[in-house]
Amino acid sequence: ASVWANVEQGPPDAILGITEAYKKDTDSKKINLGVGAYRDDNGKPYVLNAVRKAEQKLLNDKLDKEYLPITGLSSFTKEAGKLAYGADFISSHEGNCTIFINKSLHFKIHVQTQSHLISSTKFLFFSTRKVVISQSISGTGALRIGGSFLGRFYPHAKTIYVPTPTWGNHKAVFSDSGLGVAQYRYFDKNTNGLDFNGMKEDILSAPKNSIILLHACAHNPTGVDPTLAQWNELSEVLKERSHFAFFDMAYQGFASGDIDRDAYAVRKFASDGHQIILCQSFAKNMGLYGERVGAFSLVASNPKEKAAVESQIKILIRPMLSEVKVMANRIITMREKLQGHLVNDFQSKKSWNHITDQIGMFCFTGLAPDQVERLTKDFHVYLTKDGRISMAGVTSHNVKYLAEAIHEVTK
Ligand code: PLP
Repeated sequence: ASVWANVEQGPPDAILGITEAYKKDTDSKKINLGVGAYRDDNGKPYVLNAVRKAEQKLLNDKLDKEYLPITGLSSFTKEAGKLAYGADFISSHEGNCTIFINKSLHFKIHVQTQSHLISSTKFLFFSTRKVVISQSISGTGALRIGGSFLGRFYPHAKTIYVPTPTWGNHKAVFSDSGLGVAQYRYFDKNTNGLDFNGMKEDILSAPKNSIILLHACAHNPTGVDPTLAQWNELSEVLKERSHFAFFDMAYQGFASGDIDRDAYAVRKFASDGHQIILCQSFAKNMGLYGERVGAFSLVASNPKEKAAVESQIKILIRPMLSEVKVMANRIITMREKLQGHLVNDFQSKKSWNHITDQIGMFCFTGLAPDQVERLTKDFHVYLTKDGRISMAGVTSHNVKYLAEAIHEVTK
């Protein structure tokens, strides 16, 4: 018999399966709201000008294909660090030698994410000395590095608490990394908003030194984030319980259109002295989905204030900033239109305020599974069963049709 005769057929991926079904549908009105990839107002993929220019430059420069250091291109990781933590934080950690991991210790792991394999990853200390940072295979690869690192070195209980609900892949990535996965309350179905008290209660009652996963901004799938004041409180709550903050930042810039505003939680926690882990993805904000560009970082000690190079970082990120703003603004406009059509044109009795209150790429509509099923069956609208729609798939051409379809299944 074959060695693999005992391998059972696994279930298909929930989100990619939706795209498959969408592709098979021949109806001209069909809409794909399943996958979180930005589309322009004609429903077409969008490559940023900055990316086009960089590609051109790469071609012109005729670069070689030599190996990079194991932690990746240091000029890239340093800029990724500045983008997330702010130039002040990074510069204040330069030239100061307190380090978290013994200098002589080179931590090696084998990382496998989806179909990609990095042979090994080693943490070196780039010039900032306190922020350990490595290039990663997009956000998922960074999560995997973080999970594996905690699995091997975290000195307390190796259970990570994730919000309910959370991105579908979190549980698989962390349990494959050897961590236990538990949950804390997050979304309030009655208000379609944040259950802040429930969240706080669960985080407070988790055993001391627990690992808490936080979506840094534009929470997926709910589009509901804590306010700045609530982030401040959360920073205190985690401190009080000596919890460890693990940030997943897959949408920096997508919540507000402002890179700095969206980095608030990460920066607040870091400046409050939390030794955070941070996973950055450049799939969405740079539109690099399939290219798998990300960064993993870990803060190794308390920050010191030092002179900043903020003006330089601002100049550096400006082109990206303005482009992410174009994407974020189109999505915000679609939220307003969708809500407007539902309430004004179709006289829906529901307020649908959560469509405009929620932020980022997704809208957690509150549709029940049978309503989702009707949307797909009768209206050719494809979305995940939990009622999450990717606002990136909504365009000025299909928004009214979508509103009508949602109205029909919810009236
Ligand atoms: N984290 C969250 C919350 C996400 O929504 C995603 C992608 O949808 C990721 C991480 C990882 O994405 P990628 O590996 O494509 O960067």
